[in-house]
Amino acid sequence: MKHYHYIFIGSGLAALMTAYKMLQSGNFKDKNILLVDASSKKANDRTWCFWQKENTIWEAVISKKWDSAWFANENFKRNLDINPYEYCKISGIDFYSFVFDALSKETNITFLNEKVTNINELDTHVYVSTENAEFTCDQVLNSIWNRNTLTQQSKFRVLQQHFIGWHIQSSESVFNPKEATFMDFSVAQKGNTRFMYVLPFSEKEALLEYHLVFGTSFR
Ligand SMILES: Cc1cc2nc3c(=O)[nH]c(=O)nc-3n(C[C@H](O)[C@H](O)[C@H](O)COP(=O)(O)OP(=O)(O)OC[C@H]3O[C@@H](n4cnc5c(N)ncnc54)[C@H](O)[C@@H]3O)c2cc1C
Repeated sequence: MKHYHYIFIGSGLAALMTAYKMLQSGNFKDKNILLVDASSKKANDRTWCFWQKENTIWEAVISKKWDSAWFANENFKRNLDINPYEYCKISGIDFYSFVFDALSKETNITFLNEKVTNINELDTHVYVSTENAEFTCDQVLNSIWNRNTLTQQSKFRVLQQHFIGWHIQSSESVFNPKEATFMDFSVAQKGNTRFMYVLPFSEKEALLEYHLVFGTSFR
């Protein structure tokens, strides 16, 4: 059974950012690291947008930036200059490819495309099994979301955010690619919090998102 210093269970945003920073630090060259994920991370499974004030190590994978944005509610609509911030977009696949490209050059870092089936924390080490293999390690970084953590407690209300997105392509020029629309609350609220995003990439192409936020008490 192969032993690793670190096993990342799940290789999504948290794991890949951490692994990339570990690589960049140069402090883990003598550590064996295994990343395991049920997904091959080769699909563009999401689009991330986020704020930044200055460029970061992720500049190479930012595919679009906006420096002004519309905010609206039922009675109000204003285009906000968001300077000194920028609103930036990263396509999931660009991020995954960028990080895996860097990690794959390191002989001490291995990626395994398998589902983790068991994690057992023992006194001196951690046992991890996948569908076809077993490992031990000093430490795990576990990204698997456990729904029971939310549903089997009654202390906290849980804020849930659901959203649906459409990638729109128009035959005519209808968007201003310099201006995002975010937090447009002018849509019907229907007793909870609802808002739209319009993130234009060009005059004819945009991502539209419809968000719904509500609190739930379990049990
Ligand atoms: C469509 C979409 C759009 C989003 N947009 C934004 C945004 O604009 N801005 C923002 O800040 N956040 C956004 N988010 C949220 C953001 O993606 C998450 O907060 C973030 O990905 C969480 O990181 P994570 O590493 O914890 O989980 P994930 O990135 O989900 O990674 C978890 C990984 O674990 C793997 N996994 C699960 N079970 C197993 C198993 N049994 N064995 C092996 N591997 C397993 C999964 O395949 C996955 O790769 C968005 C999310 C979605 C779905």
